[in-house]
Amino acid sequence: MSEKKTVLITGAAGFLASHLAERYLSQGIAVIGLDNFATGLKSNIDYLQNRFTSRFRFIEYDTVNSWSPIEALIRERIEGRLAYLYYLASPASPPHYQRLSLETLHVNSLGLENALLFADKMNARLVYTSTSEVYGDPNITPQSESYWGNVNSFGPRACYDEAKRYGEALIYSWNEKKNTNHGLIRIFNTYGPRMNPNDGRVIINFLVQALAGQNLTIYGDGNQTRSFCFVSDLVDGLVRYGESEIAYPVNFGNDKEFTILDLAKVIQNIFKEKTLKIEFMEKAKDDPSQRRPDLRLAKKLFPEWSPKVDLEIGLRSMIDWLETTKNY
Ligand code: NAD
Ligand code: UDP
Repeated sequence: MSEKKTVLITGAAGFLASHLAERYLSQGIAVIGLDNFATGLKSNIDYLQNRFTSRFRFIEYDTVNSWSPIEALIRERIEGRLAYLYYLASPASPPHYQRLSLETLHVNSLGLENALLFADKMNARLVYTSTSEVYGDPNITPQSESYWGNVNSFGPRACYDEAKRYGEALIYSWNEKKNTNHGLIRIFNTYGPRMNPNDGRVIINFLVQALAGQNLTIYGDGNQTRSFCFVSDLVDGLVRYGESEIAYPVNFGNDKEFTILDLAKVIQNIFKEKTLKIEFMEKAKDDPSQRRPDLRLAKKLFPEWSPKVDLEIGLRSMIDWLETTKNY
């Protein structure tokens, strides 16, 4: 019989973490979630609790605070051993991380260090979710893991980009000094159901606007590019990486690149009957002009993994979710 194990996920009320939790819970594995609801949704926690009852345990907590007051609580909820600690807590959308700039710096530094200390005590592997933002406004494309990036350390995106770069550096040094084997992945723009309708990132913004029959807001001329990954593909990669012993950064995402104008056109076409208009607004400062992951390393390490969900199919499943939950 295989040994019982538990997974701890920070940021559990968030979009990605709620899908990661669901993936483990569906396999019969116990999950403990932590979140302080900085940007996450109570409805994501309700969904997991209703569907999986006591197999999913939730603790409302800010990971930046010392974990001493919740250590006993976490320990008593662990079934078998704590195998993995996935560290997803952090605001992730530009409007939210700019509103919560100091909190974003802290959750990826102090909060991450608290989690590393706890993971080591429990002999668990920690997996940190870094970002394509470590490449900044890249001057090469596609971006491979060996590219060091082009990041402004003193601007509106620095609280996120530099916090994630610090998080990566912390894991590097932690592994070196403490002889541990914690890992990190670099996630490229991922979307799907259960994103906060007020999140502010481009896909959820466009869909909420489209459903309300409003103009689609493009910041700048719309020629900037992004590559959009559906959440199931991302979670598939994250779990494969998490359960490996790899301790260096690997990109995960979808490498099909779109301009933001292309994306708006895809959405206009899905909502043809509404004849949605595009409204061009001021370009955001330091907005990366291009982004596309080089996925060769991910595919070499995990030959069974590749992004499979086509943009339009992913968008339709998000629209269904928005319509059925009326969560907008
Ligand atoms: P999200 O905002 O939906 O989820 C983040 C969660 O972290 C929220 O529930 C929030 O309340 C929680 N949180 C924030 N600060 C916290 C704190 N101090 N203590 C406890 N909980 C806290 O965002 P997401 O898109 O699900 O992103 C999850 C993780 O993945 C983030 O670390 C993000 O940087 C990373 N990431 C996401 C993407 C993407 O495209 N979705 C891309 C790159 C990296
Ligand atoms: N964007 C836009 N309209 C919106 C939201 C975002 O044109 O309503 C643009 C944004 O300026 C950026 C791209 O879409 O060029 C992706 O932005 P998002 O916030 O989704 O993520 P980022 O990759 O910038 O972190």
